[in-house]
Order: sequence, then structure tokens, then C-alpha cells
Amino acid sequence: SARLAETDPELSCLLAAETARQRDKIRLIASENYASAAVREACSSHLTNQYSEGYPGARYYEGQQIVDQVERLAIARAKELFGAEHVNVQPYSGSPANLAVYLAFLKPGETVLAMRLAHGGHLTHGSKVSITGKHWNVVQYGLDPETKRLDYDAIRALALEHRPKLLIAGHSAYPRQIDFAAFRAIADEVGSLLMVDMAHFAGLVAAGAHPSPVPFADVVTTTTHKSLRGPRGAMILCRAEHAAKIDKAVFPGLQGGPHNAITAAIAVALKEALQPDFAEYGRQCVANARALAERLIEHGFDIVTGGTDNHLVLVDLRSKGIAGKPLAAALDRAGLVANYNSVPWDDRPPQDPSGLRLGTPSMTTRGFREGEFRQVADWIAGIVASGLDEDVIARISAEALALASSFPMP
Ligand code: PLP
Repeated sequence: SARLAETDPELSCLLAAETARQRDKIRLIASENYASAAVREACSSHLTNQYSEGYPGARYYEGQQIVDQVERLAIARAKELFGAEHVNVQPYSGSPANLAVYLAFLKPGETVLAMRLAHGGHLTHGSKVSITGKHWNVVQYGLDPETKRLDYDAIRALALEHRPKLLIAGHSAYPRQIDFAAFRAIADEVGSLLMVDMAHFAGLVAAGAHPSPVPFADVVTTTTHKSLRGPRGAMILCRAEHAAKIDKAVFPGLQGGPHNAITAAIAVALKEALQPDFAEYGRQCVANARALAERLIEHGFDIVTGGTDNHLVLVDLRSKGIAGKPLAAALDRAGLVANYNSVPWDDRPPQDPSGLRLGTPSMTTRGFREGEFRQVADWIAGIVASGLDEDVIARISAEALALASSFPMP
């Protein structure tokens, strides 16, 4: 803004540079998106000035006349969009949302069964470096070594052996749909609660482009800033019977005052996701990921599970004799922003793994369709085939800038 440019030119320049970066690059990070101007307007509203510890109608501060309505609106829209009985919109982000679920249902040391980070799970699903892996006894399941897909028989066997109090489904890097009914059956058989972390694919669920976990899970957590295309935040959806426990775990269990401007922006994003064109957006995210995967396969790339049925593609680079980290850096120089990622049974360390993760939510928001994603695949293949040749990277970077320029960002 003009005012920031006057009072803090140094920071203002950085913000302008980041805007230009997001505009000029082709962003392929599966967990990112472009929030609308309306969402960003709500994020920067005067609600950021206010304290509101508590919940609508039961706050610890005066002055809640307006914000109570804002939070109730966000909750009502989330319930409508996902068909949930109860929603908490206050978690600061996905990790605290997940932690709140542990806090709500588990005593320290109790057993959780969740997906291994190295096979696509999230840090908060019990990784040893996360508080979840330090304070609880987390047993982890992985993928089938042949198909690289979830092996429900193996998950059931682990559940029968370890009798977890909480079973967690959901992922950050698994390119297939989850069979929520199968998870429910396992949870029922061993008497555990079922949590689904739908952070990555919540937008697809909202769009009807991915089955919904809500009818099957006791509790569903999600971030709001990935495929759902809202501000950086999170929500917890749960059955009415768990409402009080979840709310108490978020506040006062884990957090203080909610970030009210973000709550408003979540309400805006949820209204956007309720519009008919959001269904088209979700369908296109999946179609684009499929086109990207198919073209990479035509170029001889090894795609984990042989394809995708969500918004992400996981490339196993071992057959190409290149590691993920140098490739991701080269792609970034070419204007294609992605992240290096472990692949299942990776023989390299997580800081320097064998895979590349690609996602479609951001560029689908800008209007990319299958043709543009095939072009992206051709560029990636060209850069790999050239052995990361800087002349090739420079040529593609000019072409990628030209393509990005014809798809304005919100
Ligand atoms: N859950 C899943 C499945 C995720 O992929 C992520 C983030 O990548 C999170 C939770 C955590 O979200 P945040 O980064 O907002 O804490």
C-alpha cells in the first residue's frame, strides 16, 4: 500500500517483490494456492486489532458484538459446505489443529496409529521430531511395497496388535484417494476414534471431486490455505458428541485469542467454496494433475502409484539418476516452483531425497488447464534431459514467464 511504502519502504519493497514472484512464477507446490482479493482484504481488516478469547456468546472480553457474528458465519458456512455437526474455526494453523485433537482425546503416552512421514504422512502424525511423536506412543503404518498404495489389511493388523485410542488417516504426499469406510471399519473393530486430516484435499472435498471423510470420521482436521484456497488457518470438524472436548482443547487448552481477521477470511473463502464454480475448480485440479502425471510418464518418469486421483503428483527420480533437491533448485531457476520430497522406501535422507512433489491447486486457480500442465511436464523433462543445463534453464525460464503472464493471479 502507499502508506506502507512511506512508513516502511524496506518492508514494502519486499512485499512488492513477493507479489511479483508469485505473479511471474509457475507455482507447483501442492500445499499452496492463490487466495482471492476478497480473502486477502478480510485478512488485513481491523479485526486484527481485537481480543476474543472464548467462543461466540461466551467470551472473556467486552466488545464482541460484531466478531461473534463473524465467527458464527464462518462456522455456519463450514457446516453447510462439509455437512459437519460441529466446527471450530479457531486453530491457528494445521499443526495446532491436530495437536488439539490429541489433547482432546488422549493422555500423554497413549497409543495412536498414523501414517509414516516417509510414506506421505504429516509431521504431526507422530513423527519423532514432532511433539506428537514425543508425548504419545505413535505406531506408524506405511504403504504396500508393490503398489505404493495404502494397505488396509496391514493397517488393520497393526490396529489389532496395538489397539490405538486414536487412528489417523490423511497425508501430505499421497496421490490417491483414501477409503474412509475401510478406516472406519478398522476403528470400529478395535474401538478407536477416527481422525481424518484432510488438509491437502479439503478443497477437492468441498468441490465434490474427492470423497468426504465427514460421514465416517469422529473428527476431521483441515488447513484452510491449501486446496480450499482460504487464508492461512485451520478448522476442526467433528460429531456433536465431541464438540465440547474439541472446543476446550483449542481454547483454553492450547491457544489464547483467536485470529479474528483470519476467521473473517475463512468465512469469505467458505462462501467462495460454496459457489458452483468451485466444483468446476476442484474437478479441474484433478484433471490437471492427471494430465501432468500422464505426460511425465510419456517422458519416462516414474510416478509413485503410476498416476494420481487427487491434486498432487509424486515423481520418483531414481530411474532418472537425479536427486530431488538439485532438480527442484533448477526448476525454480526456470520459473517452476516445486519441492523436493521423500518417496516411499527412499534410500536418500529427507533433507536430500529422491522425489519431487508437484501440485495443481495454485495454477488451476490462475486458469491453467490440461494443455498448460502438459507444457509444464515437457519443460521438466527438458531440464532433466539436459542434465540441468543452464542455457536450457534460461530459455525455459523466459517461456515460463510468458505463459505465467497470460494467466493473471488474483
Ligand atoms: N496436516 C497436513 C496433512 C499437512 O499437509 C499440513 C501442512 O503441510 C499440516 C497438517 C500442517 O499445517 P500447518 O503447516 O498449517 O501447520
